[in-house]
Amino acid sequence: MKHSNISIFVPHVGCPHKCTFCDQNTISGAQHLPHGDDVREICTRALSEVRSPENTEIAFFGGSFTAIPHDYMTELLSAAHEFVGEGRFRGIRCSTRPDCITPEILFELKAAGVTAIELGAQSMDDEVLALNERGHTAQEVINACELIRAFGIELGLQMMIGLYGSTPEKEWETIRAIHALRPDTVRIYPVVVLEGTKLAELLKSGEYVPFDFDTAVDIAASAMVMFEGDGIRVIKCGLHASEFVEHDMVGGFYHPAFREICETVIYRHNMEFELKNCGHMSDTAVFAVSPSCISKAVGHGRANIEYFRERGIALKITGDESVPKYRCELRR
Ligand code: SF4
Repeated sequence: MKHSNISIFVPHVGCPHKCTFCDQNTISGAQHLPHGDDVREICTRALSEVRSPENTEIAFFGGSFTAIPHDYMTELLSAAHEFVGEGRFRGIRCSTRPDCITPEILFELKAAGVTAIELGAQSMDDEVLALNERGHTAQEVINACELIRAFGIELGLQMMIGLYGSTPEKEWETIRAIHALRPDTVRIYPVVVLEGTKLAELLKSGEYVPFDFDTAVDIAASAMVMFEGDGIRVIKCGLHASEFVEHDMVGGFYHPAFREICETVIYRHNMEFELKNCGHMSDTAVFAVSPSCISKAVGHGRANIEYFRERGIALKITGDESVPKYRCELRR
């Protein structure tokens, strides 16, 4: 059964930093700070609407949850906790910074019903972290992951692609380092430059020159294959479509269908590899893929059908349960 979240956004409040790329109000689309009664109202409504609450978590996203004032965090958690357990939701998840994780905090979160924590790692390169004013190191990410694991809480990591000072090589180091930490889930966020952020200034002054869009797609696509291939679920790739982001962005790699574009590239590369490998000469190619991936293999806006047609190959995709996700088999 598919997992889902009841997302409650807790904006920038309490975060002691201002990372170069961050404008939490724009990213979360939230201007209003939720309180305990808001949480109860959202959860009561969701409980009557959600099909399988036992596969659903109440999710506090948007800022650094464990860095918000302690009384406020307790207020939100205890309201959410009323909706966790038998016949209600599966648990609570929250996102926070690696340097805002301590044994004391984890003890408290666990007692309050928190089942998953997502850490904003963003990069595992200390120079990139410093240039983007993250205020923590890669080692602090590693330490926080170990602690979360020790408490038996599900671990999620978020990474960004194309930060100021990064290079494709540094992205690969980050992907490898995150893979080695064996998180349960990963979110991949290609950088989106928002008006009013330090990154926007750096972009306008010419100091920050992002990679081109295709490089960001290639890196994200390869990361997805690497993570998913080893059972690490990529639960997000690209910022969610939002009118706030679309209005305030001044650069970066935003596309409302970013994940679909990456999946198109994954299948295109795999199909090209198979064709080359088999010395395929015919003007028709039939590939079998997992049935749930047929549209991904066809490509976003039928991009792969078009791509191969331009190269003189009529592409046909069929479904086969035995083919793993992101793989394809040339049938004729
Ligand atoms: S730590 Fe998170 S909430 Fe705080 S400034 Fe950075 S990105 Fe924004």
